Amino acid sequence: MNTPPVKRIAIFGSTGSIGTQALEVIAAHPDLLSVEVLTANNNDTLLVQQARAYRPNIVVIGDDAKFTKVRDALADTDIKVFAGDQALAEVAAMDVYDLMLAAIVGYAGLKPTLTAIQHGKAIALANKETLVVAGDIVMQTALEKRVPVIPVDSEHSAIFQCLVGEQRNPIEKVILTASGGPFLGRKTNYLVNVKREHALQHPNWNMGAKISVDSATLMNKGLEMIEAKWLFNLRPDQIQVLIHPQSVVHSMVQFEDGSIKAQMGLPDMKLPIQYALAFPNRLSNNWPRCDFKKFNTLNFDEPDYRTFRNLTLAIEALKKGGNLPCVLNAANEIAVWAFLKNRLGFLEMTDVIEQTMQKVSWIEKPSIEEYYEADGEARLYASEFAKL
Ligand code: NAD
Ligand code: MG
Repeated sequence: MNTPPVKRIAIFGSTGSIGTQALEVIAAHPDLLSVEVLTANNNDTLLVQQARAYRPNIVVIGDDAKFTKVRDALADTDIKVFAGDQALAEVAAMDVYDLMLAAIVGYAGLKPTLTAIQHGKAIALANKETLVVAGDIVMQTALEKRVPVIPVDSEHSAIFQCLVGEQRNPIEKVILTASGGPFLGRKTNYLVNVKREHALQHPNWNMGAKISVDSATLMNKGLEMIEAKWLFNLRPDQIQVLIHPQSVVHSMVQFEDGSIKAQMGLPDMKLPIQYALAFPNRLSNNWPRCDFKKFNTLNFDEPDYRTFRNLTLAIEALKKGGNLPCVLNAANEIAVWAFLKNRLGFLEMTDVIEQTMQKVSWIEKPSIEEYYEADGEARLYASEFAKL
């Protein structure tokens, strides 16, 4: 049997929670996967460490001010060093890799990811904000360029895995499971006093700061509903959310005959990361296995939409479409940033997002420039409403 060629990977956002776990996955399969590009926003120390360990072709540091530091630290290697936002997009376009792991957090991930798609690179997509902001343009471009967009987000990876072999069978609906986050069962009188330290304590997953706050407000599930719409071409009424605190069922697909498929396992992001990098193959590993005897109950419940209003706002954006999800996302990024700086209360985040959604003019079918403009405008209003 011929050995498959090594897949050359570019990790955009290599110093984050997803990025570092992806490097562990790649390190375990040097015969199949190689690291060609690593990028970080400002953690130069870790970026240099990763570059020394994995010997990529190119590294990019987002923060221009750190360019000389990174270049000097790697001067005795042949690794090329670039800096700045512009360089992120330029490297995304280069012919040095096969697959981009889009693991930058937030809106900043959109341009490099879209550039990669325009240049025919396969995408393993962790950066859900890319689809929330401009899902129509991103997926249309992927279709035109025949580029696979393979989800890394655990719920979407679950749905994707359930759909293997079902190409001809329409989806009746998908059930996105949600752990409920650290404040499951809490009410407004408790949430009003919640601080950053509480919100960053997720019961089942260890993730970056932004997505941890989004999980605590349930905005994450709202963003994921929008992500699912674009990945799997669904109508809003085909996407159901259920709270499932054990995080064992990662999501489910119901087909037209009423049959439901679920993908299950212990909550560990390395699994969906590995699946996306190695797709269509499954690679063996010795990570802990799920023992159902330890989970003698699996619960499924309706989310508390009245308390966790960010989810309700995201559903409004999902249904209305146009530039509203982009506006929701921008306002949320500002609100989460302010919350993490202790400059905005937990519940005030929702007010900022709601007010911003009412303020920015709605466009039904925005161009990419109009998405960029809506993002900028929403950030200005959100900063104003948050009194930043
Ligand atoms: P993180 O904060 O841990 O890491 C973010 C990475 O992006 C870092 O490498 C950082 O340097 C880089 N980055 C941040 N801002 C940037 C900017 N302005 N320009 C360029 N690079 C920038 O985040 P994470 O938890 O790894 O999440 C990454 C993405 O994956 C998010 O979109 C998140 O929603 C998604 N995701 C994460 C998890 C998880 O378990 N962490 C699960 C599902 C989906
Ligand atoms: Mg998820």
